Amino acid sequence: MVRSIAFIGLGNMGAPMAGNLVKAGYTVTGFDVAPAARQNATDRGVLIADSIEAAADGVDAVITMLPNAALVLEVWIRLAAIVRPGTLVIDSSTIDVEGARAAHRLLPGCVTVDAPVSGGTGGAEAGTLSFMLGGDIGAIDAARPVLEPMGGRIIPCGTAGAGQAAKLCNNMLLGISMIGAAEAFVLGEKLGLEHQALFDVLSTSSGQCWSVNSYCPVPGPVSTSPANRDYVPGFASALMLKDLRLASQAATDCTAATPLGAHARRLYEDFVVSGEGHRDFSAIIAFLRDYHAMHGEQTA
Ligand code: NAD
Repeated sequence: MVRSIAFIGLGNMGAPMAGNLVKAGYTVTGFDVAPAARQNATDRGVLIADSIEAAADGVDAVITMLPNAALVLEVWIRLAAIVRPGTLVIDSSTIDVEGARAAHRLLPGCVTVDAPVSGGTGGAEAGTLSFMLGGDIGAIDAARPVLEPMGGRIIPCGTAGAGQAAKLCNNMLLGISMIGAAEAFVLGEKLGLEHQALFDVLSTSSGQCWSVNSYCPVPGPVSTSPANRDYVPGFASALMLKDLRLASQAATDCTAATPLGAHARRLYEDFVVSGEGHRDFSAIIAFLRDYHAMHGEQTA
């Protein structure tokens, strides 16, 4: 039974996730290279160690929540030298599928799970994240009670790497569907439609999707949308671009045809390069409104 947890990576997601584990009664020892992240976690009841090794020494479980695959693998290599056989080790970062599989292989004596999340910082604070799990059945069963205080939904997706695979598929579709929703509103504006009227049609007709119904890219129809607060994220465009790049790379590696995914990636690349990476990914609608002015061409 897991009682003590090391949490490595106490950033925007990791700190509130670790805090929810503290609230659930676990003893959580964290480590982050950034002093501000350590302080934020301390304020949430997380004990702070002065190294990865000190945090992970003797614990029942380790969770990593880091920016990219290179850091996850670097940290898991260090964990391999310190954790006891049978320790539960979970990575909740968003990384590439091959990176996730390589991480599993680094700890053959441990119970390993890739468990990326969707739900953003709001879900991390509220403990309502969706976890997508990859690993052996036994590992997924072991991870479930540890993830429950942080998650609303825990979805087993298959063997090692399957959690990351599902995450990349979901976020590729999300990027495409947000651009589609934004294009529909931009076209509607040019055709003289009120936002609310078009929303009332789209959200109840065959155009309905999460990007319209729950995260509408224009202000007004959905009060919780970032569009109502000048596109403060939410889910930043730079993070959407990261995920679309991972999806494109995965599609190339396994020779899947994802032309719309590649096009969405290019649009978000242009948007982020234009200096908007910090804005919510639904702000791509402003970029689409100005598309002709910037590109000087008709694309329809
Ligand atoms: P973040 O940059 O806020 O946090 C990452 C933390 O890792 C930072 O505090 C950083 O200092 C720390 N770190 C880096 N190297 C380290 C090391 N060697 N040892 C210990 N700590 C180290 O990022 P985030 O928003 O918390 O995202 C974390 C992961 O979750 C990413 O993979 C991201 O793609 C994914 N994700 C983020 C969101 C979101 O909305 N922010 C949503 C879903 C998934």
